Amino acid sequence: MSEFTYSKKIPEAFESDIAVIGGGPAGLCAAVAAAREGARVILIEKNAFCGGMATAGMVAPFMTCYDSGGNKMLIRGLFEELVERLIAVGGAIHPSKVESKTAFTSYIDKGHVHVTPFKAEALKIVADEMLREAGVKILYHTQLVDAETEGDKVTRLIVAMKEGLASVRAKAFIDCTGDGDLAAAAGAAYSVGNAQGKMQPATMFFTVGGVDTKKVDADIEKNWDNFYRKDGVNYRSLHWWVAKAKEAGDWTLDRVSIGLFRGVEEDEFSINTSRVMHIDGTKSESLTEGEIEGRKQVREIFAFLKKYVPGFENSRLILSGSTIGIRETRHIEGIRTLTTDSILNCEVPEDSILLAANSVDVHGKYGPKSNEYITIPEGKCYGIPYGTMIPPAFSNLAVAGRCISADCEAAGAIRVMPPCMGIGQAAGTAAAMALAENVDLRQLNVNRLRKKLTANGVMLENE
Ligand SMILES: Cc1cc2nc3c(=O)[nH]c(=O)nc-3n(C[C@H](O)[C@H](O)[C@H](O)COP(=O)(O)OP(=O)(O)OC[C@H]3O[C@@H](n4cnc5c(N)ncnc54)[C@H](O)[C@@H]3O)c2cc1C
Repeated sequence: MSEFTYSKKIPEAFESDIAVIGGGPAGLCAAVAAAREGARVILIEKNAFCGGMATAGMVAPFMTCYDSGGNKMLIRGLFEELVERLIAVGGAIHPSKVESKTAFTSYIDKGHVHVTPFKAEALKIVADEMLREAGVKILYHTQLVDAETEGDKVTRLIVAMKEGLASVRAKAFIDCTGDGDLAAAAGAAYSVGNAQGKMQPATMFFTVGGVDTKKVDADIEKNWDNFYRKDGVNYRSLHWWVAKAKEAGDWTLDRVSIGLFRGVEEDEFSINTSRVMHIDGTKSESLTEGEIEGRKQVREIFAFLKKYVPGFENSRLILSGSTIGIRETRHIEGIRTLTTDSILNCEVPEDSILLAANSVDVHGKYGPKSNEYITIPEGKCYGIPYGTMIPPAFSNLAVAGRCISADCEAAGAIRVMPPCMGIGQAAGTAAAMALAENVDLRQLNVNRLRKKLTANGVMLENE
């Protein structure tokens, strides 16, 4: 591709203590946490609302926030506050009331106990309220396009606003773009996908209303015996209908079953089934192909549900995501890296900023049909160390959410929304403390950070 140099004077539009880029689960919590610590915070989000995958991607439910035995709620802090606030406006069901092997969990048992069904629309509003109450300056319709650095500092962002390019100055920056866009633009080291550079497949979520859930339950009950895989982990909801549709030429997709998650309303389901391979979520052209293919698959899946699945006869397609769901892109290299072994051995390092017990869930690892799903030993959890958020080359940059420093399988565990929110809260708190104490983020006293997080409702001991 040929290149040219473009030079232009642009306005120094904004200046803040901390700039958070991306208002998804991680960015929302990072911005609120930093502002509550007294920092001036600006949040930059390319969409017209917060929530990221939870709103634009229509991804639901919030995956489990409990230990792997489903006995104790481990992920609390701002995640718990958000859930309580959603419940107060009729926008969520408390995870303690949600059992596994039910419509809420796609009838899956292991690793899916106590998920949190929620309404995307309620989340948009509650997110605005939490940010406004905390005093965060919100900037929607604004996309990060580049960053300037000086030595070990990020100094300035270049953003694309509706009115054109502008710059944002801040003393510290938190990259919550999911893709590590800021860290990559600043020159931080990263890997992409798994050891072979392959990224998990993408999925276009959609919601369906008018479902007779009791009929779906009855069909599942009838087929219960051929439902579970040997190891007790089930991905095969409704595979008996998919097989029939395939035989009749009504199913051309490379999936053998349906991921269906009941929402807050009894007749509404989120469908997590389409599979779009080889999409690079960091590239517009590739994303465009993914959106078009994703919507095409949604049409086929919905037609299948209506024709074959008892309970879906009178259903209607409500909406597909306004963006395709991207599970994996960059993993930004940190001063520590979360590894598959540390997760499966349930290690809790002394500098953990979050405890979680989410299973390793890597889709399409060996091809379109396969998933790798490894649960954490019963009743156990693992810790996410502070250094996974801190790129070694920078003194004032943190990353939070699915792009923290983790190998592919470890990222496949902590990429779900409750841990991303917990990591966001830790990053926001850390950035505000580092500014108040005038220290390099790489040198922050993690014990003091842990004390502050604990005081703010984060659970850092599992006893
Ligand atoms: C298909 C699929 C199914 C999933 N299923 C579940 C599930 O059932 N339960 C669960 O808990 N999790 C699930 N997940 C995982 C979860 O949704 C995401 O991993 C999680 O939302 C990541 O949070 P995040 O804040 O890191 O990133 P995101 O949610 O991606 O948020 C990033 C935000 O940054 C913004 N942004 C990105 N780039 C820029 C830029 N350059 N400038 C400005 N803004 C930018 C985006 O618009 C977005 O708002 C699923 C994910 C996918 C894709």
